[in-house]
Amino acid sequence: MYQMAAYCRVSKDDGENKISESIENQLKLIREYIEKSDDMELADIYIDDGYSGLYFSNRPEFQRMMEDIYKGRIQGIITKDISRLGREHIETSNYMERVFPALKIRYIAILDGVDSVSHQNEELAQFKTLFNDMYSRDISRKIKGALTVQKKRGQFMSGFAPYGYMKNPDDKHRFLVDEEAARVVRRIYSMYLAGYSKGGIARMLNEEGVLTPSEYKRKVQGLKYANAKQKPGAEGWAYPTIHVILKNRVYTGAMVQHKSEKLSYKMEKYRYIPEEQQYIVEGMHEPIISKDIFEQAQEIGKKRTRTPGFGGEVKKVNPYAGILVCGDCGYNLQRVTGRDGYECSTYHKKGNAFCRSHFMKKETLDSIVKTEMEKEGKSETISEVTREMVIEKIEKITVYSGRNVEIVFK
Ligand SMILES: [Zn+2]
Repeated sequence: MYQMAAYCRVSKDDGENKISESIENQLKLIREYIEKSDDMELADIYIDDGYSGLYFSNRPEFQRMMEDIYKGRIQGIITKDISRLGREHIETSNYMERVFPALKIRYIAILDGVDSVSHQNEELAQFKTLFNDMYSRDISRKIKGALTVQKKRGQFMSGFAPYGYMKNPDDKHRFLVDEEAARVVRRIYSMYLAGYSKGGIARMLNEEGVLTPSEYKRKVQGLKYANAKQKPGAEGWAYPTIHVILKNRVYTGAMVQHKSEKLSYKMEKYRYIPEEQQYIVEGMHEPIISKDIFEQAQEIGKKRTRTPGFGGEVKKVNPYAGILVCGDCGYNLQRVTGRDGYECSTYHKKGNAFCRSHFMKKETLDSIVKTEMEKEGKSETISEVTREMVIEKIEKITVYSGRNVEIVFK
């Protein structure tokens, strides 16, 4: 008697065959087949609902079945057809031709007429796996094509509206302003324009206990939202959250889609699309941020960063390089990115046996320099301290301790 595992799977890559591929139908067919046979018994049922046939390792029930096989509890697997086992040609063939035979596992695909014990239809099985693979490729292309047309028209085709908006209940392809979150978005832009760094804005929002966009979606909007890009352990507002909000043209009323694309229908890997190739349709919803403010933020972004790589580390510019010195040892203060400020380079390299940290927050130093410049009448109100300004007007800045700073003007 073969102890058989009934394996069923359904996912969106089944296209229009959803009903005939339903779990109930698969199980019914399998039960009937086992009942009619005289050398098989149904040992257990494994159901992966919502998992693509292109991958094996992420299917929990498939993995549980494989464990039961290794434990010796099962001697055979039965599926409705080969596509339920898998849709990816190479890996599916690998299971059928290498893994199962090596484990002495009988494999039956009812509708494809495959039974490894009687060696039935083995050549046909080869062809079927290839066919299933091609079918997936075709379905993925069809879904993509239909989506492209709608996205180009400015219809929102994804799951969750960006922070600051919510899906319009009367038209799920359009947005309405979510006033509570929109207020935070407006504040982020105005703080940025006022000279706050992205890290500084994040810190302030954390200090005030403002919910992050992910938390907000879950707690306030009641959405089942999981941010796949969020690193484990990362909590609260952070530089990337602010960066993304300050770059998102959606807040000016434009629908922005096609920002990244899947590299291949077989891989969960994405490529970033440059802005000029994205599908941007203006005037699709009420703006949260005026175009003027948005463009100002983009200009500041260009000035403050040298290499704003996508998702990568952004190098912090030190506008005071060469003129900011330690009041104790006379060496330079260097930019420390983690805490967003400056500290004595002697201390940084050699430790507290040689000098003290003299750490000063970037915001603090900027505001002192701004105030002193304005007092000196070197400039009118300054929105942001730039490298150009510093080189032109300042000879030397010496940092003693705390906020004790001496500025020598040219
Ligand atoms: Zn020092």
